[in-house]
This record gives sequence, structure tokens and C-alpha cells, in this order.
Amino acid sequence: MSFQDLGLSEALLRAIADQGYNTPSPVQSKAIPQVLAGRDVMAAAQTGTGKTAAFTLPLLQNLSGGARAPKRGCRALVLTPTRELAAQVHENVTEYSRYLDLRSACVFGGVKINPQIDRLSRGVDVLVATPGRLLDLQGQGAVDFSALEILVLDEADRMLDMGFIHDIRRVVRLLPEKRQTLMFSATFSGEITRLAGGYLNNPVKVEV
Ligand code: AMP
Repeated sequence: MSFQDLGLSEALLRAIADQGYNTPSPVQSKAIPQVLAGRDVMAAAQTGTGKTAAFTLPLLQNLSGGARAPKRGCRALVLTPTRELAAQVHENVTEYSRYLDLRSACVFGGVKINPQIDRLSRGVDVLVATPGRLLDLQGQGAVDFSALEILVLDEADRMLDMGFIHDIRRVVRLLPEKRQTLMFSATFSGEITRLAGGYLNNPVKVEV
């Protein structure tokens, strides 16, 4: 199995080659075609398995060619439990989108909010965020979810462990119901499966 076989565009294949990746990891081989096909995906994959690229690469392809986000809008939202993970995911988004005409931003707590409000005012295609700061921004009218197409819950089990369930529920209530939803978690616990049951539509399950 090669990256070419997964249905990724030339622009993404070039970015992948720049990273020095030769072959897709198991979670990438299984998840990428499903995400490209527009399916909701629930994946059990630990950090280090290449899970970030497994959702980021097809997400970028699904967004490319679509209409621009409105002011303060975002088209894809990736929720992560910590600012470190948010920054890491955003770095991946930046690398993989280098040959695409897509804009991305990263917002998390513990830093000044005003630069984030300014950045969001111009609109982004991919927004990577921690839940608390995202809700603060939304409360200030800085972010508009009306054009949202894709939601990713990254390290969903850790978000639950860290007590973010209410924040996640508040965020999801703000999103359009018609969207693609991807959930990544180290394991499928009962709690994770229940969360997926509420938010994912007939998901494909991927386990590695
Ligand atoms: P992750 O599981 O997303 O935290 O990724 C772990 C590491 O693997 C990151 O440093 C990625 O850059 C790298 N990586 C992701 N996919 C591949 C691949 N197909 N081949 C080689 N390295 C990869």
C-alpha cells in the first residue's frame, strides 16, 4: 500500500514526500480512504501511530476546492485536550497544506485572547483549538460555525479524563448537524462509544 493508492491529491503527495514519509501507517491506510469518501470515522489509535496525518491529510483534501469560510468562520474544527497537542496538530496542518490554498489557525488558553480574535476575524479553513478557549472566543462573538463542514475530536479519551465533556457538549451544540465527524481515541471505552453514538453518523470503526 502506498500513499498514491489512498486517493490523495498531488499537492498532498508532494507535502508527504517533503516530510520523508514512504508508506502509510496502518491507521492511515484504513482511515484515509474512509474520510475521503465522506464517512464519519471512529478510530482507536495511540500517539505515535501516525494518527494526526490519518485525519489531517484527508480533511485538507475534503476542504480544498470548497468555498472560503466567512469572516470569523471556520470550515474544519479540530478539538484537542491540551495546548501542546493543539500546537503539534497545527504544525502538521501547516506542513501538509503547504501546496494548498487553505488557511489555518490554532487557539488555546493561557495566552492573550486578542491576537486570536484578530486572527479569527479574517476567517480560517482549519481551526485547531482547546475547548475552553474556543468557548471563550465564541462567547465574545469571535468565531462563527455556520460554515463548519468537519469536526475532529482528537484524543477524545483524554478530553473526557480531563473533564472536558461539558465543554465538548457545549461546542458540538453550536455546530451544524450536517457535518463530517471524526473521533480519535487511544481506546474505545464505554464512555467513548456513547459519545460517538451521539455525535457520529453510522461511523466506520478503525482499530490498529
Ligand atoms: P502521531 O501519531 O500523529 O503523533 O505521529 C507520530 C510521528 O510519526 C510524527 O512525528 C509524524 O510526523 C510521523 N509520521 C506520521 N505518518 C508517518 C508515515 N506514514 N511515515 C513515517 N512517519 C510518519
